[in-house]
Amino acid sequence: MISGVRRNKSRKKGSRCTPAGNRNGHTPQGHVTQGRRRSPVMQLNVLALNRNYVAVHVLTVPRAFSLLWKGTAEVVNVEQDQYLSYDFDGWRENSELKAELEDRDDTDDWIRSVQFEIQVPKIIRLLLYDRVPRNSVKFNRRNVFLRDEHCCQYCRKRFPRQQLSLDHVMPRSRGGGDSWENIVCACLSCNVRKGGRTPQEAGMTLKKPPVKPKRSPLISRQMTQPKYESWGKFIRIHE
Ligand SMILES: [Zn+2]
Repeated sequence: MISGVRRNKSRKKGSRCTPAGNRNGHTPQGHVTQGRRRSPVMQLNVLALNRNYVAVHVLTVPRAFSLLWKGTAEVVNVEQDQYLSYDFDGWRENSELKAELEDRDDTDDWIRSVQFEIQVPKIIRLLLYDRVPRNSVKFNRRNVFLRDEHCCQYCRKRFPRQQLSLDHVMPRSRGGGDSWENIVCACLSCNVRKGGRTPQEAGMTLKKPPVKPKRSPLISRQMTQPKYESWGKFIRIHE
């Protein structure tokens, strides 16, 4: 599938290494900053592939545009089962064309500035990065909440992040550590009820045994949305 990737004709030679202050007289930071303040589009995610088309990270939109503009990344766009790559200028031209023809998909997102509008890419490829991070799933609060789908593992109810806590299944005082296998998402009320006891002692049962996720819980969650359908083409291949 990777060998099927072809360059889009609109790519311009030498445009990859654009120096600071581009020929149009505005910086990408200009519209990125503007969008970050005003638009939820900036909170969307962009899948980053390494140079060998292996999914390695999930980036924010401003970060993705910054890399594109610097020329250290290119957009990989899935169009009618073909993989097209664009540098920043090519992607901007493609966006303009799409806007002109009103050829927009419901799952597309756009950033609008005074001078132009540009489509938010769903996937970018890091041109200077060929590693595959060994422990790409970070053990942190956000990822535990995502793994457990913001669902208290004791009462099985879903809560907003502010009403959730992390619970040590085997309490710390009894030697329980901070690990994927011993930390679960719990609502405050269940956490208080359980106290310093094991679930068994407290008469509580876990929704499912906690395990380390195989891939980033953020990626797993996003892949269920039609917007990020194209991510699956890269993630399934390498797992
Ligand atoms: Zn609960």
